[in-house]
Amino acid sequence: MSTFKAPKGTYDLLPPDSAAFLAVREAIAAPLRNSGYGYIETPGFENVELFARGVGESTDIVTKEMYTLTTKGGDNLALRPEGTASVLRAALEANLHKAGNLPVKLWYSGSYYRYERPQKGRYRHFSQVGAEAIGTEDPALDAELIILADQAYRSLGLRNFRILLNSLGDKECRPVYREALQGFLRDLDLDEDTRRRAEINPLRVLDDKRAEVQKQLVGAPMLRDYLCDACKAYHEEVRELLTAAGVAFEDDEKLVRGLDYYTRTTFEFVHDGLGSQSAVGGGGRYDGLSEMIGGPALPSVGWALGVDRTVLALEAEGVDLRLPATTDVFAVPLGEEARRTLFGVVTELRRAGVATDFSYGGKGVKAAMKAANRSGARFALVLGERDLAEGVVQLKDMASGEQEAIPLAEAVAVVRGRVG
Ligand code: ATP
Ligand code: MG
Repeated sequence: MSTFKAPKGTYDLLPPDSAAFLAVREAIAAPLRNSGYGYIETPGFENVELFARGVGESTDIVTKEMYTLTTKGGDNLALRPEGTASVLRAALEANLHKAGNLPVKLWYSGSYYRYERPQKGRYRHFSQVGAEAIGTEDPALDAELIILADQAYRSLGLRNFRILLNSLGDKECRPVYREALQGFLRDLDLDEDTRRRAEINPLRVLDDKRAEVQKQLVGAPMLRDYLCDACKAYHEEVRELLTAAGVAFEDDEKLVRGLDYYTRTTFEFVHDGLGSQSAVGGGGRYDGLSEMIGGPALPSVGWALGVDRTVLALEAEGVDLRLPATTDVFAVPLGEEARRTLFGVVTELRRAGVATDFSYGGKGVKAAMKAANRSGARFALVLGERDLAEGVVQLKDMASGEQEAIPLAEAVAVVRGRVG
């Protein structure tokens, strides 16, 4: 062990478990790539003001969870706590929305940072794959994103997840509702923090996990009853498209989510095997965000799925994605000259597409064969001094123990045929 440990709230991805993370990222990306989404990568940090405006001054993310820093040059930056604001910033900066082809569909994958109280499923460094469809208002786009996330989870073998769906209204109907809710909340017996929240962002009080708060919320005005006709019709269309696609969802009129920029469609994917950190992903429509960060009106929708929690959900369901390394051939040289020759064969095998590993460090035959065993390879390729003199190499079937001498000059072709 070294003097250092991974910082609090973080952990390292190590083999063999790391294979599941790669598989999850890949599985989420595949349906997006297949549906017109292009890959985008933005910096790991941004101007802190982007998140303050884009995520919302009253959100937990901005008030409590951001890692901020001042550079030697005096810039105020923040490690990115989420992806949407950065992606929209980048799309606007590059004028992708002016190229004529709306929506601009983008997907991303990377590390995010939030200063949170670490616990299972909640870390200070975590990993998301996300998708954004920018510049178009169309319920089919909202439905598309939910369907693609559902497809991604199912392709991983995940079954015990649920989709929660709600509409948050728009700038016509939400303010009316907001006021009605505020009126209701003012009459409740709430602590100081929650009172303040009720004044700044009353919808988020609905999301409070505490039983004593939830008890008081019975009878609270519900946004559903305040939605304007346009929002109602839009939401109904999203629901119908999902139903037609065979994607089951639950209407959850209390689903608010932590970010200020959401409008209309909002959704969350929850998994029942995760305890209190049950959200594996979430997203929604954010028609006002572009203007909030100084851009033109660009109605958009997107989601972010948490890779860490998806891996935990797979574990909870007993789905094993830790695919072992796929070494087909393990090469064992005995002696200095054999080492050079066999290393050349290994290089050729790899170029021919055969997964091959090599015994490094001048091990004796016993230790080398042990390594061959551990690698899981189907064949060992053993080259001794006498083999070398005879122009052959020993091909050993690791399962049966059978061994045969094959001509060294044809080793690559023969092995390739066997592995086939
Ligand atoms: P929560 O309510 O659990 O705090 P959130 O609403 O803050 O989640 P989002 O900002 O919507 O989460 O992020 C999308 C997904 O990213 C979450 O559903 C979750 O899977 C993952 N995620 C968010 N924060 C963390 C974290 N601190 N550690 C691990 N995963 C996280
Ligand atoms: Mg959170």
